[in-house]
Parts: sequence; C-alpha cells; structure tokens
Amino acid sequence: MSQQATLVIGAGYAGSVMARELADAGHRVHVIDKRLHIAGNAYDELDEHGVLVHRYGPHIFHTNGERIFEYLSRFTQWRPYEHRVRGVINGMAYPFPINCDTLNRLYGLDLDEAGAATFFERVREPREPVLTSEDVVLNSVGRDLYEKFFLNYTRKQWGLDPSQLKAGVAARIPVRTNTDDRYFTDTFQAMPLHGYTKMFEAMLNHPNISVELGVDFAEVRQRGGAYGHLVYTGPIDAYFDFRFGHLPYRSLRFEHEHLAGVAQYQETGTINYPNDHAYTRITEFKHLTGQQHPGTSIVREYPQAEGDPYYPVPRAENEALFKRYEALAKEEKGVTFVGRLAQYRYYNMDQVVGAALVAAKRFLGKDDDV
Ligand code: FAD
Ligand code: UDP
Repeated sequence: MSQQATLVIGAGYAGSVMARELADAGHRVHVIDKRLHIAGNAYDELDEHGVLVHRYGPHIFHTNGERIFEYLSRFTQWRPYEHRVRGVINGMAYPFPINCDTLNRLYGLDLDEAGAATFFERVREPREPVLTSEDVVLNSVGRDLYEKFFLNYTRKQWGLDPSQLKAGVAARIPVRTNTDDRYFTDTFQAMPLHGYTKMFEAMLNHPNISVELGVDFAEVRQRGGAYGHLVYTGPIDAYFDFRFGHLPYRSLRFEHEHLAGVAQYQETGTINYPNDHAYTRITEFKHLTGQQHPGTSIVREYPQAEGDPYYPVPRAENEALFKRYEALAKEEKGVTFVGRLAQYRYYNMDQVVGAALVAAKRFLGKDDDV
C-alpha cells in the first residue's frame, strides 16, 4: 500500500467514484476541486427561492447498467422519473424523439406503427456508409424532419454543421415508429431522491477521504505538493500545458430564472427550440425532481465556444489530437486519467461511473506501480 495519499483532481463522478473505491480499499485520498462545491457538473442546490436546480444544466440519470445503478444506490435513494421532451416547430410542440405521434401531428396523418415505418422508409435518404451526424439523420428520417428538428439545433449546440460531427452525436437520439415519448428507454431511470449533491456527499463521506474546494491543480503543481498516485479528471490538454494545442470543448451559458407564483411553466421537463432563439432548450426542474413549490425555476442553455469545458466535440480531427495527448498520458507514470474531460468522450453520467470503476480496479490491481 502506498504511504502517501492519492491526490484526486476533480470532485465530479470520475473523481468521487475513484476516491471512494480507493478509500474503501484502505487508501488515503485527498480530493481537490477548483470549484467551491463537489459533484462536478451534476451539482444541484436550492436556489434563493428554495427550488432544487441543477446549476450546470439538466441532469437526468438513466442506465442499462444494473451494476452501476446498484453502486450509486449505496449513496442515495431514488425517485423514479422518465424524462419527456418536446421540440417546438413553427410554434407547435411535438413529441421528441420523433415518433408516430410526431408524424401524425406534424403532417396531419393517422399512421399506426406499421404506417410510420413505411413513412420513414419512403422519406429516408439512404446513406452508406453512415459516418456523420447528417448521415445518421438523413438515413433514418429524411430531409424535411432533418431540417425541422436537427439541422439548426445542432448548428446552435456545436457551432458546426451535422456533416462536421461524428455519427455518434445524432445517434444519441432514437427514431420511433411507436408512440413512446420518453427521452430514454433505459432499464433504470431515476433521480437521486435528495439530489445529486447529497449523493456525492455520501460518496465522499469516508474516514479515508479529505476534500479541499476552491483549489486549482495548477497551484498544487506549482508548490510541488507531495502525493502518491494522481487521479486527474480535468481536461487532458490542460494537464499537458496544451503542448499540441487546445482540444476544443463546447461550452454553455446557463440562464436561470425563477417564476414566482407559476406552479408549472411547461408541459414536459425539457422543451427544445431547434429553430428559434439563441438558446437550445428550456428545462423546468420541478418535473425532474417532483418538488412541490408555489413557484417554479427554469434554465435556458446558450451554447458558446468560450467558457467552462462541458462537451468534448466529437469529430475526427479532434479525436486525432486527443490520441496524441492520450499517448502522452499512457507514458505518464503514476497518473490515472479518467472522466469526460480527461478521456475526451461524450460520456453520460453512468458511463463515467463505469469508467471510474474500471480505472479504480486497474489501479488497485497494480498497486505496486505507484
Ligand atoms: P465533471 O463533472 O466535469 O467533473 C470534473 C471536475 O474537475 C469539475 O468539478 C472541475 O471543476 C474539476 N477540475 C477540472 N480541472 C481542474 C483543475 N485544474 N483543478 C481542480 N479541479 C479541476 N449525463 C447524463 O447521464 N444525463 C444527463 O441528463 C446529462 N445532462 C447533461 C447536461 C449538460 C448541460 C452537461 C454539460 C452534461 C450533462 N451530462 C449528462 C453529462 C455529465 O455531466 C457528465 O457525464 C459527468 O458529470 C462527467 O463527470 P466527470 O467527473 O467526468 O466530469
Ligand atoms: N439534437 C437535435 N435536436 C434536438 C435534440 C438533439 O438536433 O432537438 C442533436 C444535437 O446535435 C444534440 C444531439 O442530438 O447535440 C444529442 O442530443 P442530447 O439531447 O443527447 O444532448 P445533451 O443532452 O447531451 O446536450
């Protein structure tokens, strides 16, 4: 066992799961985050009106990984929640992802499931191979639906045309011939009963774990802090001082608003605005949390290039640059790189938990490396 504490950079999922796994195995762990709170981008808190909000945009937990759900269940109880989204086209809100009802309402049709399948077959533009997000959507639903629901949303969200993004981005969104209007169909869909931050508090509440907030890794590096192993969950290019140039990360500006005396603002948790406004979507938190309150709180998301890194940008040239950093990371002794920013992957929360559990196992199995 190492003598010195392991230092974990970042108190989000990647850092907190790693910290807990190492602590449970008997290691001392010191977690730092440059922000003044734990939970990373999943951070939630009561706003000044007492409504539980997600400071960094809506976070809905969903997974098919029973092991991951069980793991997090050690730290929280759950509230079952199935997210629903509408897409507004010409002032009308339609079920999104596109399903049979979307087609019927949009085009004034009366299709059943088989009819919807025939419809898609008729309008789709077959693409072979399917490489980009444009290919994905045209290949499945054709040009009109692409232009109505995907083209401008994607341009707004990424500052790029769907043809410039890898297939995986748009492939996150299914196309349905039935009338299922849930955003996700995973086996486990639930919200932490008392919020994400409380779940992280429980995860980090361990005699072997200490947490220090408001500290940037750059400071620790400068003063030459003594630690054993390092777990780094920040942006990988920053770790290597941008040696090969900056990896693009997409950012957002969150505009939070409380509406006093409005019990419910919109019909579903999130409403997407592909073609209107500078923001992509509005989320009303009470749908997600089930909170009862005479007022309501919403957030609008404005995509932007500058600011905190929220999304890796999945395109071939960025992945090639990431690979160069990853090669450096592999050579870096005594450091584990894990998480959405360090692995430059468009990970959902459950996938980060999975990645951290794998990284922890690897680390614990190779303890004498440290
Ligand atoms: P982060 O949560 O980003 O944590 C990294 C931490 O490291 C941060 O707290 C940061 O402050 C800290 N850090 C970085 N650099 C340094 C440094 N130099 N010194 C000290 N600390 C540092 N996933 C879902 O499953 N469902 C959703 O509905 C969902 N919605 C999302 C909505 C938005 C708007 C965004 C941006 C993401 C969403 N996600 C969602 C993805 C989810 O947020 C991530 O998968 C997850 O939070 C990533 O965890 P992480 O630990 O890798 O990174
Ligand atoms: N997308 C779109 N229109 C929508 C919703 C999503 O074109 O109404 C595309 C867009 O490119 C987006 C991607 O699908 O970035 C993935 O959407 P998701 O809702 O999964 O994004 P996230 O919640 O991760 O921001």
